[in-house]
Amino acid sequence: MDYQVNKKGFYGEFGGAYIPEAMYPNIEELQSRYLDIMQSESFKKEFNELLRDYVGRPSPLYYARRLSERYGAKIYLKREDLNHTGSHKINNTIGQILIARQLGKTRIIAETGAGQHGVATATVCALMGIKCVVYMGALDVARQAPNVLRMKMLGAEVIPVESGNKTLKDATNGAMRDWINNPVDTHYIVGSVIGPHPYPDLVARLQSVISEEIRWQLKSHEGREEPDYVIACVGGGSNAAGAFYHFLDSPKVRLIGTEAAGLGADTPETAATLATGRPGVLHSCRSMLMQNEDGQITEPYSISAGLDYPGIGPMHANLFKTGRAEYMSITDQDALDAAFRLSLLEGIIPALESAHAFAVLEKRKFNPEDIVVVNVSGRGDKDMQTYIDVMKKGNE
Ligand SMILES: *Cc1c(COP(=O)(O)O)cnc(C)c1O
Repeated sequence: MDYQVNKKGFYGEFGGAYIPEAMYPNIEELQSRYLDIMQSESFKKEFNELLRDYVGRPSPLYYARRLSERYGAKIYLKREDLNHTGSHKINNTIGQILIARQLGKTRIIAETGAGQHGVATATVCALMGIKCVVYMGALDVARQAPNVLRMKMLGAEVIPVESGNKTLKDATNGAMRDWINNPVDTHYIVGSVIGPHPYPDLVARLQSVISEEIRWQLKSHEGREEPDYVIACVGGGSNAAGAFYHFLDSPKVRLIGTEAAGLGADTPETAATLATGRPGVLHSCRSMLMQNEDGQITEPYSISAGLDYPGIGPMHANLFKTGRAEYMSITDQDALDAAFRLSLLEGIIPALESAHAFAVLEKRKFNPEDIVVVNVSGRGDKDMQTYIDVMKKGNE
């Protein structure tokens, strides 16, 4: 079974490039050039140097002793939270800004929900001295003031999108419209393994550095490259794609993705796409989608802004359909409990997104010799207000 994208841009029945004709030149250019650029020696050299000296890679693979004792397995944490800007997102934006420069682009656009991808994009634009425009739903602009200010401090222009629900889906529509109007000088840095081909493959390749490192790091810790489990949270699915990538063809490695169930996958307040969705097309790509009977996209809900998306990358839809990976729905409450537990047991305050992956440890039984790798996609600084509110309630 081949879990990678095929020549036409599909993962099984999912993926593709369902684009308006006006977007054809941009997508065609990217499709025909991305592999050559990424495989060139000059790209690899500069990407690897920036990952090392600017991002701080390799990120450690940390043996979590107290967590291991509690759950009766050997638990390792892949520390993407230690990257510059606080999450895995910078791996993708560094790679895409280098591709954009190679394509001769002088202007970058991006969409953002909570602002994390917007900040990672504004960061690499400042690094390269390239103009940056970030589309953000007007509601999110109001809710995520610190990240809006970060982007501005980094020199980006933030454009509030007033259409629809004024959240991530609408921001993406705004960025796509901009790209259609600026096909020559602009590159669109998509923030996850979503969108038209080649984005899902492009972003997965850039994030695959995560599993590439896990292999050699685990070899030096344990004498073997392959763990028994890899666990990662899934919004669009880029940190999970990166953590799974070099294990896809190793069937003994069990892959577990966690979706945000919100108040429960059986309630309307959820973002559990695979548990509740059906196939459909959103943002130029066929995948699983949360939708009502008429095919209208339904508004997702999760306590975690980064998992609050009504779709999922086509690679994951295919891994789900073929059974290669398993996906669990994790509620707000289970994720919060996991975040507090990790903080107390290991001194690591995770991002709320990452906490969804840790919740699996409570729900699964492991054997003592099992090696379990949990991807810590980001750090919890940005979620402190949510954690503080929870602690205040607990003390009342
Ligand atoms: C954005 C984000 C996610 C979700 O995005 P994916 O593409 O699914 O990885 C997860 N964790 C953190 C810390 C994020 O910032």
